[in-house]
Amino acid sequence: MDSKRKLRGSAIAWMLVAAPLAAQSVDLDMATRIRDEAVRRSQVMEIARHLTDEIGPRLTGSPALRQAGEWARDRLTDWGLSRARLEPFEFGEGWSFSRCVVSVVEPEIGPVAALPKAWTVGTEGAVRGEAVRLTLEDAEDLEEQKGKLAGKILFLDGPRKEEPSARPRRDFERWDDERLAELVELDLDEPRGDSWREQARKRWAFTRQLAEFLAAEGVVATVELSSRDHGILRLGGDSAKRDPSLPRGVPGLVMAAEPYQRLLRRLEGGERIELEVDVATRFHPEETLAYNTLAEIPGGDKRGEIVLAGAHLDSWHAGTGATDNAAGSAVVLEAVRILQAIGARPRRTIRVALWGGEEQGLLGSRAWVEANVADRPESTDAEELELPRMLRRETWPLRPRAEHGKISAYFNLDNGGGKIRGIYTQGNLAVAPIFQGWIAPLADLGVTTVTNEATGSTDHVPFDRAGVPGFQFIQDPLDYFPRTHHSHLDTFERLRREDLVQASIVMATFLWQTAQREEKLPRKPFPVEPPVRPETGEGAGAR
Ligand SMILES: [Zn+2]
Repeated sequence: MDSKRKLRGSAIAWMLVAAPLAAQSVDLDMATRIRDEAVRRSQVMEIARHLTDEIGPRLTGSPALRQAGEWARDRLTDWGLSRARLEPFEFGEGWSFSRCVVSVVEPEIGPVAALPKAWTVGTEGAVRGEAVRLTLEDAEDLEEQKGKLAGKILFLDGPRKEEPSARPRRDFERWDDERLAELVELDLDEPRGDSWREQARKRWAFTRQLAEFLAAEGVVATVELSSRDHGILRLGGDSAKRDPSLPRGVPGLVMAAEPYQRLLRRLEGGERIELEVDVATRFHPEETLAYNTLAEIPGGDKRGEIVLAGAHLDSWHAGTGATDNAAGSAVVLEAVRILQAIGARPRRTIRVALWGGEEQGLLGSRAWVEANVADRPESTDAEELELPRMLRRETWPLRPRAEHGKISAYFNLDNGGGKIRGIYTQGNLAVAPIFQGWIAPLADLGVTTVTNEATGSTDHVPFDRAGVPGFQFIQDPLDYFPRTHHSHLDTFERLRREDLVQASIVMATFLWQTAQREEKLPRKPFPVEPPVRPETGEGAGAR
């Protein structure tokens, strides 16, 4: 018997023994009322439908995200929450697009599926250019191509070198007991280190150089290969270009893998290929702020203390941001609606936060944490100051601000539209038995797992890094990574009522338990040095 299996067995035994013992600390009367409201009078699908079908993609800085924030604020007010409001943070120029038509005109193949990356410039009407396959990765590559690229459309990626990471996954999956047990088993591999930051810094510097070069050379457009197959257009944007003082280059497109690779094969055969590209995009220089949306259910005897639930309201622009992350936003909204509807009077103040700028590097939650929870000294290194904030090295010491001691916990939901199956403690061993107790009466909803592993890439990270308990739930993956994540398939039909109702019950229960507990949740030691496993920001430089 391998040691892994033994460990797995003991983790399951632990769950079974510990859960019934701890269940006694759960408010089962409230758990029953939460379920009843959530199942009988759920509004979670209607909230998600409005955010996706009516408002649509919610790129940070676009008028649509502000509209979504205002709509959420008004619903929170309707439900009787207090101080529903938009809080601004510095972001840069917004961007939106209204047209993208790409056709192969020679040979006469016709239209192909492609979309513009966010913060790309448009064309002035339909323009034509000859396709050229080129790798441009450093200054030397640029030097070599100088004077040769006027009027060209550059195909910047080669064919798929390896199986895309999504391919071995099943197209749709839920965690089974075995994989949940694997998640409990602690990963004792060597820490990963900070290499992502170095790579991101290099990429950032080269992106500027490349943009200047392409515009100066008279390149018509660039085309990149979508990172998913089966016609899925998966893309983000060059978010550094939201800063109008940086060069914006030429129109940048992402094309579906199948037509892209077909054209590559024909180029390789020596054929002349010409494309026509018509892309209309718009910057929104009138508004350089972005917004977080917040509201509260005021507390009772412990009203000075706070429990937060959050998700990001912003999305990328290819789909309508259903699983990333109208789902999480709708669940957070529904959780506080449920608590209001059943007349919950929490001891601590319950606050909901819908963040902006998550996809560009957790910008909304970072700004809010810096202003309210803890900040760091400004770097004195001129080179560091040239970089966008999230690429700068962390400075020390961490300096607690007004709300640092008041927040019991922050609960985040942003791993797609799947059911909640448990929670990551982020290495906070003291909260594990508490959470075990809270999930015991949720076992019949499939919530069984507390793992001490840490997860990253979303808005609980700034809280965790500031020394405040910040958590993300374990969610069933469904078709998030193979299909919907940052893709044009991320639309309302990917959402499932059953999953979102379940998640609303779990979120409302965690909020209630945290609000009512005699003590605030236990904390990890106050951070005095960088974490062993630095967590990256989602989407920084995502395509
Ligand atoms: Zn997300």
